[in-house]
Amino acid sequence: MLEDVQIERYSRQIILPQVGGKGQEKLLRGQVYVDGDGLLTAAALFYLAAAGVGTIGMARAKAAPVFSALVEQSLGPDEQSVAHILRRLNPDCTIVTHTDEDEQPSHHYDLVLATTDALHDGWYARHKPFVWGAASGEGARLFVSRGDRAGRPCLRCLSPERVNGPSNRQALGKEETCPASAGRGRTRFLFSPYALFLGTQLVTEALKIILQPEAESPPKLLAYTFPAFHCTEQTVEKNPHCPVCSTPAHD
Ligand SMILES: [Zn+2]
Repeated sequence: MLEDVQIERYSRQIILPQVGGKGQEKLLRGQVYVDGDGLLTAAALFYLAAAGVGTIGMARAKAAPVFSALVEQSLGPDEQSVAHILRRLNPDCTIVTHTDEDEQPSHHYDLVLATTDALHDGWYARHKPFVWGAASGEGARLFVSRGDRAGRPCLRCLSPERVNGPSNRQALGKEETCPASAGRGRTRFLFSPYALFLGTQLVTEALKIILQPEAESPPKLLAYTFPAFHCTEQTVEKNPHCPVCSTPAHD
């Protein structure tokens, strides 16, 4: 049951028929693990907290100066961690920091929102949704790997070319590490608005799963081209030879 202060806090999304009071309660019970680093991850964390997702986990406390400009108060040097700022942003949220960078997060999370593919295979094996996105100066890609749905393609079913997107580099702003497996460790360039844009898209997909986990959602790779913001939807077929999802446990 929502308290009066929560009804006021979330009034602008409770009024949406897709959310309502029951939906907001689902979001407050929701548990999302966020994997990744950089501005795109920071944007996703910010919008998850703003939407009232009850538990947000992350690998470790990270400094994120971008939040300083978003929070209307001066924070001391000891209070610059993402976890602290998110708690200040929304006291409804429980922020869980996993201190060991290599630690696999607990099984209780509903889904993973990731800007890296490092945890995908393990979470697919746990039958958990994996919301993945990557952005560079040339474009962004988004795919939801539904390990909780039988017969669905996973992130590994995509060719490296489709995961990585355009390879042409343009120095448009912030640097972001390319998260895709084939390009792990490469530094690419990311214009700040693109990161914020994709961050909202990733959070939207995560909220859709929490609100309506059984809703029909065809497996599509969303590809945005910057700066035109042209969007294409590409159907993703299951790879019968995929080492992750074409196993007896997932056929
Ligand atoms: Zn697969």
